[in-house]
Amino acid sequence: QQVKKHFPIKAGILQRTTGHVKAVDGLDFTIKKGETFGLVGESGCGKSTAGRSIIRLYEPTEGKITFDGEDISRKKEKDLFHLRRDMQMIFQDPFSSLNPRKTVGSMLQEPLKVHGLHKNHQERQEKCQEIMSRVGLNPSFINRYPHEFSGGQRQRIGIARALVLEPKMIVADEPVSALDVSIQSQVLNLLDDLQDDFDLTYLFIAHDLSVVKHFSDRIGVMYLGNMTEIAEKNDLYDDPLHPYTQALLSAVPRSHPRERKRERITLTGELPSPANPPSGCVFHTRCPFVMEHCKQVVPEMKEVRLNHYVACHLY
Ligand code: SF4
Ligand code: MG
Repeated sequence: QQVKKHFPIKAGILQRTTGHVKAVDGLDFTIKKGETFGLVGESGCGKSTAGRSIIRLYEPTEGKITFDGEDISRKKEKDLFHLRRDMQMIFQDPFSSLNPRKTVGSMLQEPLKVHGLHKNHQERQEKCQEIMSRVGLNPSFINRYPHEFSGGQRQRIGIARALVLEPKMIVADEPVSALDVSIQSQVLNLLDDLQDDFDLTYLFIAHDLSVVKHFSDRIGVMYLGNMTEIAEKNDLYDDPLHPYTQALLSAVPRSHPRERKRERITLTGELPSPANPPSGCVFHTRCPFVMEHCKQVVPEMKEVRLNHYVACHLY
C-alpha cells in the first residue's frame, strides 16, 4: 500500500544529498497466491525497484508491504531471515549473477547450509541434483563451473538456486531478456511448469508486453514510478484503457491476422527524469489526450470495469 522507494542523489566531495530519485512513488496493488503478476514498463520506470522492495531486498521509504498477512515493511535484516526462504529472486543476467569461482553444487548447497536444511553433505548433494534435473540440467554436472554452461543453462542454474529452498514466491526480473530468442520460450515454459509443481507465486518483470502475454494472469503497467493500469491479461490486451498502455500495445505486433488491428500511437517527448517527475499525472508531458487539469491533479487508481483498474482522468 502506497509503497515508495526514493534513492538519495549525492553530489560533491561531501556527498551531500541534492535530491531524490523517486524510483517507486506510491504503488498500491496485491499479488494473489498462485498467480503470475506481470509488471511491465520501459527501463527506468521503477519496476525492478518495486520487485526488490516487495521481497525486502530494499526497505521502502514509505508505505506498507504485507506478505502472507504479515507486515514486513520495517523488518530488520535478522528478522527477515525466515522470509528469505519464502521469497526468492531470479535475475536478468545469468552471466553476472553467478559466482564464476563456485561450482553449481556449492552454489546450490549454500542456501541449504545457511538455513540449516538437510544436515549432511550427502543429503544436500541429493537435493541439489534433484533440483538440477527438475530445471533440465544434467545432475552429473554438479561439479562444473558457470563458464562451462551456455546462457540458457546458466539461467537454469539461476532458477535452480531460487528454487532450492522451495520458496512461496519468486520475483523474476526480466529472466529471459538476456537470452537468445530461440531459448526464451524454453525458459518461459520451464518457469510455467515449475509454478504448478512447486505451488509458486510469480512477480514477473518485463519491459515488453509481448513477453508477459502468454505467461501472466494479471498485468500491471508502470510509468515513472507509478502504476497506470492493472487488469486481467485478456482485458488489458483487448481493451487497454490508459493512454500509455495503448501506446505500449500499439508497438506489439499482432500475433494473429484476425486480431484487431491497433492504431499505432507514437509517444512524443522524452521520458522525464524520476528525480523531477511532472506534476499531476506523471504521463501528462507525453499523453496525446492531455487535458488542462491533468497537469495539476494526480489521477487516482479506480476500478472502471470489473477487476480493471486505471489511473487516468479520462475515466
Ligand atoms: Fe493523459 Fe490526463 Fe489520463 Fe494522464 S490523466 S493519462 S495526461 S488523459
Ligand atoms: Mg502459470
